[in-house]
Amino acid sequence: MMNQSKCNQSPIRIVPTIFSRLPLSLDLRWQPADGVPVWGAHGLEVRFKPNPLNGIALDDVDFILEHFHFHRPSEHYRADVQFDAELHIVHKTGDGRKAAVIAVFLTVSDQADDAVDLSFFEALAERTGDNASVPLNPRGWLPPRTASAIRYEGSLTTGDHEEIVSWVVLGELRITSAQYRLIFGETKPHARELQDLNRRYVVEFPWAPNAP
Ligand SMILES: [Zn+2]
Repeated sequence: MMNQSKCNQSPIRIVPTIFSRLPLSLDLRWQPADGVPVWGAHGLEVRFKPNPLNGIALDDVDFILEHFHFHRPSEHYRADVQFDAELHIVHKTGDGRKAAVIAVFLTVSDQADDAVDLSFFEALAERTGDNASVPLNPRGWLPPRTASAIRYEGSLTTGDHEEIVSWVVLGELRITSAQYRLIFGETKPHARELQDLNRRYVVEFPWAPNAP
């Protein structure tokens, strides 16, 4: 379905305009699952077989985990800061008409936190063919000590930029340079330019991941 307005586009510069006192209604229902790694035009993509039990509930709407992919450098900025890379964990509603994307900023550091999902990288480094799968739970990609989350309404940042995305932008996670190379290989940098905020709100909520 084409959306003609094109005034609620992504990415944006993240500067919260509203600070909520109530926590974000985001329930993580992710489960460990086998993802299929695929090389996209701008790096690694990991796709999942749709499973209604593997996803999230955002503002009481159920979204199913579809895939995750990366951009370098980051597409969103936090104030004036652009990060080395950005992870997008993409979910869709059952009818495919709405998406919820959880974004995590990635910074390359060889003193990386061990919070990142190391078993994923081990499996990725050893995978033999395009149909090999890697075990993954997106929980392994949440920034350590997450205490807040940013919400705004926007668009896909590739393709026809449909304005169907509820964005949740979390904090920053460190990865090593070896992990960065596994994610991006020889692909070219790819990040859409910043878009105007127009009449939108950027809301910061208190939020911590619920227990599995
Ligand atoms: Zn993306």
